[in-house]
Amino acid sequence: MRDAVMNVGLLYDERFLEHRAPAGHPECEQRLEACVQALEQAELWSRFERVDARRASAEQLGLCHEEPYIRRVLGAEGLVGQLDHDTFMSPGSVEAALLAAGGCIALAERIADGALARGFALVRPPGHHAEPAASGGFCYFGNAALAAATFAQRGMRVAIVDYDVHHGNGTQDIFYRRGDVFFASMHRYGGYYPGTGAASERGVGEGEGKTLNVPLSAGCDGATFLARFEDAIAPAVSAFAPDMLVVSAGYDAHERDPLGGLRVDDAAFATIAKRLVQLGSEHCDGRVLFVLEGGYDFQALGAGVVSATRALMEVAA
Ligand SMILES: [Zn+2]
Repeated sequence: MRDAVMNVGLLYDERFLEHRAPAGHPECEQRLEACVQALEQAELWSRFERVDARRASAEQLGLCHEEPYIRRVLGAEGLVGQLDHDTFMSPGSVEAALLAAGGCIALAERIADGALARGFALVRPPGHHAEPAASGGFCYFGNAALAAATFAQRGMRVAIVDYDVHHGNGTQDIFYRRGDVFFASMHRYGGYYPGTGAASERGVGEGEGKTLNVPLSAGCDGATFLARFEDAIAPAVSAFAPDMLVVSAGYDAHERDPLGGLRVDDAAFATIAKRLVQLGSEHCDGRVLFVLEGGYDFQALGAGVVSATRALMEVAA
């Protein structure tokens, strides 16, 4: 029997590779090349519907970012140097960041319109450390946050689940006071970048209780990672009853990752992707959008993107 393949959109553009990392930097072009290669080897690459990247407009970026910050980044287009102390710039970096952000918005619009059931945004630079008025942690613009804001603008209740090993401090800041977007993050906490994401950070005002932080200890393994997802994140997402699920998919909690210091394995990432797709089916008519964040071991990253794609397409592993 043939697998039922869902109508899954893929955002990818070779200009994301023009964000050129300095020698030895972990957030490098080879990360995306490894993902493409892994998807080709798994015979999944040709099964996506491709969505073209396009530059986000200043107005679109204004959904999540403040105008002086947007102007500052646009003014840096073509320059070489540092946007902040840990976010590098090459001549193609700002264009890549604008295409990643605008592409995520375009993919979100296609899903919101019903043209696509689900999506995967294979983008860089990543986005979840980008704050309303600041870059950070290799991130320019909040790609996942902009997708979520696009859905929210259409009156949808959006849940964002972030399983990158680092706290999604930028996404949290963007939605901290909002009641229509629920943000849940599981991440390494305690003497670890970016330092935010304590369980006591729960949102304020209308956003109170709409932020959920699940701190993990160094060395956390796949079983613990999944257990925290099941006991904390999945019930909270269900309780929020979203219309749309956006996933900040980072693979730097993997045991092979050079930065993460956790011990999550391929099987746990495959399970979490399946569970998120299930939650999307239970609450959101199947609508789920994965957006790539970190992950610095090429093999682990490729395996994670393949297992998430299989879950999105409902193709058996
Ligand atoms: Zn990360």
